[in-house]
Amino acid sequence: MTNLPRTISFLLMLWLCACSSKPYLLIKNVTVFDGQMVHEKVHVVIGDTLLLDVSEDLNPRVYDQVIDGTGMTILPPLLNAHVHVRSPENLQEALHSGVFGLLDMFSTDQRAQYLRSFNDSLRYSRFYSSNVGATVAGGHGTQFGVSIPVISDSLSGQTFVNNRIALGADYIKITHEQSMARMQPAQIKEITQAAEKHQKKVIGHISALTDGLDLITNGVHGLAHIWYRAGSIANQEQLKTIADRQAFIIPTLSVIEKVLERAKEIGVEDQYLSMEEVQLEVRKAHEAGIRILAGTDAPNYGLNYSTQLFEELALLKACGIPDQEILKMVTSNIYESFELKAFEKLEAGSPASFILVDGQPHKNILHLKANKRIWKNGTEIAS
Ligand SMILES: [Zn+2]
Repeated sequence: MTNLPRTISFLLMLWLCACSSKPYLLIKNVTVFDGQMVHEKVHVVIGDTLLLDVSEDLNPRVYDQVIDGTGMTILPPLLNAHVHVRSPENLQEALHSGVFGLLDMFSTDQRAQYLRSFNDSLRYSRFYSSNVGATVAGGHGTQFGVSIPVISDSLSGQTFVNNRIALGADYIKITHEQSMARMQPAQIKEITQAAEKHQKKVIGHISALTDGLDLITNGVHGLAHIWYRAGSIANQEQLKTIADRQAFIIPTLSVIEKVLERAKEIGVEDQYLSMEEVQLEVRKAHEAGIRILAGTDAPNYGLNYSTQLFEELALLKACGIPDQEILKMVTSNIYESFELKAFEKLEAGSPASFILVDGQPHKNILHLKANKRIWKNGTEIAS
């Protein structure tokens, strides 16, 4: 990424001067995590919508601002792969912590439509949603007192999916909760086949390993939680089944930690794995080659839309997962798994949307909690 030949740098400069209406910012000697790889001691120029590496011999006088990035790291936009957004303020809160995208995993159709209207605004995190999730009468999602459509003899999985897509759903959510009524395998299959016709992913809520395997063997692309019910200890064959289908898992350790604390308080902890056992399941899944995505399930149990994501990353680190792998889990693993076109690897020509953080989060993910500056489309967002 470094040491472009002098002539190319010169042409680049002319192009920058011709194109950009924003002041140029040079960040020197900074570490860049591009979504996959780490590049050390890079010089980065931020113009209008550009993020470019340049050689050191460019004339510093053309820059309106120069930052010495020694000891700092540039990261791509962070994403949270499991939340429930209630209001536009949630989207603002997320962006101010460097979380540029929130993936809502069950909303009403009306609320999802309203929240999508903020997607072109500079100061809001981008909102994605399944809209209403697919469930059956008495299934998970029906207990909240809000009238929602349920899969039945009079509403097929195919029609349910077509309706959600027509209402703008970015993907389809299924609930398959052991303690409540569940869909039949044929219904799950109908939903996943219908979603694939629209090139949409299907994500399934589970709490038990057997339910996760039911979903994945019927075509579901990702699990909205890691399994945490008592007895849910995966063997290598089961992990291979998930890995072979290239299914992903959003563990949501933040919310599971809260569920287990509550279970202990009311004396039902024997219904669940311990937190250490859950974290071992996440590590096993990662080591089996299953793609892991960071998500919190905010606002359940009062979890916020901003700093809780860093706590989730700390919980993933406590599973024994290497720091650089965790950075992928909060960036590229999410936009690649969901094929989110608004997000991409940082490289020459990318939109100037990134985070500048004090520290080396690829060596210690906890550095993400430190001071950070955030740019979106070339504009610095006050954090
Ligand atoms: Zn959720």
